[in-house]
Amino acid sequence: MTGPQENYADIRESVRALCDRFPGEYWRELDRDRAYPTAFVKALTEAGYLAALIPEEFGGSGLPVSAAAAIMEEIHAAGGNGAACHAQMYTMGTILRHGSPAQKERYLPKIATGELRLQAFGVTEPTSGTDTLSLRTVARRGGDEYVINGQKIWTSRAEHSDLMLLLARTTPKEEVKKRTDGLSVFLVDMRKALEAGTLTIKPIRTVMNHATTEVFFDDLRVPAENLIGEEGKGFRYILSGMNTERILIASECIGDAKWFIRKAADYALVFSRERTFSKLRFKSPPTRFQSPRKASPDRVLGKLTVEPTVPAEPICASPFTNPVIIGLVRGLRRDRILSERTMLRNSKPNEMSLMTTYIPEEGSKIK
Ligand SMILES: Cc1cc2nc3c(=O)[nH]c(=O)nc-3n(C[C@H](O)[C@H](O)[C@H](O)COP(=O)(O)OP(=O)(O)OC[C@H]3O[C@@H](n4cnc5c(N)ncnc54)[C@H](O)[C@@H]3O)c2cc1C
Repeated sequence: MTGPQENYADIRESVRALCDRFPGEYWRELDRDRAYPTAFVKALTEAGYLAALIPEEFGGSGLPVSAAAAIMEEIHAAGGNGAACHAQMYTMGTILRHGSPAQKERYLPKIATGELRLQAFGVTEPTSGTDTLSLRTVARRGGDEYVINGQKIWTSRAEHSDLMLLLARTTPKEEVKKRTDGLSVFLVDMRKALEAGTLTIKPIRTVMNHATTEVFFDDLRVPAENLIGEEGKGFRYILSGMNTERILIASECIGDAKWFIRKAADYALVFSRERTFSKLRFKSPPTRFQSPRKASPDRVLGKLTVEPTVPAEPICASPFTNPVIIGLVRGLRRDRILSERTMLRNSKPNEMSLMTTYIPEEGSKIK
């Protein structure tokens, strides 16, 4: 039984098990090479997760959006990147809701198995992002095909997709009754278009490894049977698909937040343990300070030294090389050490015995 309150514990557990096969090193290596997570996407496809929203009659699991959201959240909570393939889950929604029976029969079962990748979504253009109604890519009908010219930008995963859902203008803006009319949605066979040389894909280098691109259409020919729904009504069709996209991306963000919070908590724990059994040492032999009366706080403070400590088994290698985290940790350690210095200064002799749990040794000075 699934409902809005369903937590999908079973699904989450299986997703976590799958993600365990793709640890941090896998993602870091991809980031280094700016490569696509092909093996991860294949594993998700084979496990059926990317077909979660496709109805069972077309070979999917027929799950609600909340289940798909749980899948994406769990991938990100496990340190993975579902954004590399989330569009394979929801882009087909436009065909499912607005496509003809023939289009559904033809495409959905193959999208469900992963034989066809429909994860390119061509809406944004260099001169129209949020203002979708001003897009300039034009599709002109000629006989039983449309000829498309124009450009899209930030078309993610275009190099890893067989099909693209494309929004183009079929009626000039000045000629439509309603502002939202005149745009149409097409299913473009990118493999054929690349072969014909009517589609060019140019990768865009971004801060994060997101496989995003610019695409150019030069007399791209699309059969009229690839028009989705009614001509001129495409804006509504695209918006209805975007709702699912936004929900899934929000779930990924929640998963990211869980991952980062867990990592931060793990580090806090490691460092507090480290601190308890710290290598903070005093210069003089330990025996000398076992009697707190012999140690004047000022003398001790003058010789207090700290060794930079790194956990023997780092939970994850990258934060140790991350200058922001290193700075943060250093700052926290310094604050704590300074407050302990104050404690030492203000401490009475019998309280000093607590401080002697630190093992004296020469090391680097607190910076
Ligand atoms: C990682 C990533 C992947 C993407 N993948 C795809 C993809 O696969 N396919 C695709 O088509 N697009 C994709 N996009 C594009 C994305 O959908 C657009 O960036 C988005 O539509 C915004 O367009 P823009 O960048 O041109 O910003 P703009 O439209 O220039 O907006 C910039 C800012 O101004 C605000 N703004 C704009 N107009 C107004 C207004 N009238 N009043 C008040 N505020 C306003 C916006 O809210 C925004 O904060 C991707 C973007 C990113 C970052």
